[in-house]
Amino acid sequence: MNSRRYLSIKHSLMNEQELWQAVLAQVQFHISPANFATWFKNTSILSKKEGEVMVSVPNNFSREWLENKYNKLILKTVRNLEKGVKEIKYITTSQSLKIKQPQVWTQETDQLEFQELKVNKDTNLNPRYKFENFVVGPFNELPYAAASAITKSPGSVYNPLFIYGGVGLGKTHLIQAIGNEIVKNFSERKIKYISSEKFTSGIITAIKERAISGLKSAYQEIDVLIIDDIQFIAGKEKTQEEFFHIFNALYEKNKQVILSSDRPPKAIPALEERLRSRFEGGMIADISLPDLETRIAILKTKSQEKKINISDQILEYIASHIQRNIRELEGALNRLIAYQKLNNQPPDLNTIKGLLKSIINNPVKVTNHKKIIQAVAEFYDLKEEDLLCKSRKKEIVKPRQIAMYLLRTELKGSYPFIGRKFRGKDHTTAIYACNKVIAELEKDENLTEEVILIKQRIYSL
Ligand code: ADP
Ligand code: MG
Repeated sequence: MNSRRYLSIKHSLMNEQELWQAVLAQVQFHISPANFATWFKNTSILSKKEGEVMVSVPNNFSREWLENKYNKLILKTVRNLEKGVKEIKYITTSQSLKIKQPQVWTQETDQLEFQELKVNKDTNLNPRYKFENFVVGPFNELPYAAASAITKSPGSVYNPLFIYGGVGLGKTHLIQAIGNEIVKNFSERKIKYISSEKFTSGIITAIKERAISGLKSAYQEIDVLIIDDIQFIAGKEKTQEEFFHIFNALYEKNKQVILSSDRPPKAIPALEERLRSRFEGGMIADISLPDLETRIAILKTKSQEKKINISDQILEYIASHIQRNIRELEGALNRLIAYQKLNNQPPDLNTIKGLLKSIINNPVKVTNHKKIIQAVAEFYDLKEEDLLCKSRKKEIVKPRQIAMYLLRTELKGSYPFIGRKFRGKDHTTAIYACNKVIAELEKDENLTEEVILIKQRIYSL
């Protein structure tokens, strides 16, 4: 940033965008991340004149909340930055009126730069996901090695390649990097990347429009099919059936299939047995959690990519506080960079603590019984109600016991507390559940893995 822009900010000549960015940066310290994301997303300043700031909001609901609950905070924050402001008005703008959004700091928009590069229309691949900017460490060595082998001769080794791991740990990056690398090495091959939601909705539409055989033959033309988050086809019978046929056709022709999932095939509930055994027939590789050194290396790579100099001390501070999610690591870095650009100087440690407060995980503080129950229910593809009700079905009893165990380990909840959260169950039930899970964990590796994945999910809710 040049000194002119810096001066203009200091002298209250911020343009609307800069002003709103600065307001949002401060507001987010005062409210929860969830509230911030809900009420401040897609807001912007439309105009600013004669002491009146006009804020655009996406719908009437947001407008009422901002007017009634947050106006005081917003006004105070704006006035700190621009003395002359007397009043804030909120207006609902229709889609067509919306102006370019300023940066709102949420987990999603920490990733704003994602969108800058164009996704290829034929392959659906985003060129930003490359091997060159993928950091390899002990936590992802195996999937990386498999990925790299595939790019040298797609379809002939490791088919399918099944990569699994928790949220934000690089699954999408790695499987797209494979695609981009194959495009480079074998330009004549047809490559397609698709999320499992899009895959599913394509199948459903095709069935409705009686176009399924056309869709299937289009898929069978593909040389490298990459499907992201395949766990979402769980329970979707029709999609699974069509996918099974597509998979077989590709497999027989030695075409490469690459899949990602948040858990191993055996832990995907309601997955047809024949698909499970197909998934297990190739190479399964998991991405675990990066160690401190790798996290620092990732931050260094990213800051070099963004051509920003940040001291080792700061990078180490971030890396030692954000441990479970590379997306969050990147988000933290983006916040720092935004601050540094706006203020023309790096933040000091105290400011950094403030900036990162909403990202940094403190397990005892950031989770609660609702999140734990939600995460467990989602993981086992159940309704929260199933966990809370009295059902003695085996497929419900086990998740319920795990949820109770997690209330104990993650919240340090007393047994009566745990019982109460499960509709007043007796504390002896909670004791029994926790002991049962502890005993099972000792002898069942699969369960250990499931619990790790559930915990990752809890802390990313
Ligand atoms: P997932 O699909 O597992 O949820 P993503 O692939 O979307 O995770 O990764 C989240 C973010 O972290 C992306 O911006 C990605 O580029 C980055 N990232 C993940 N793993 C690495 C890595 N090993 N090296 C560099 N960046 C990474
Ligand atoms: Mg992903």
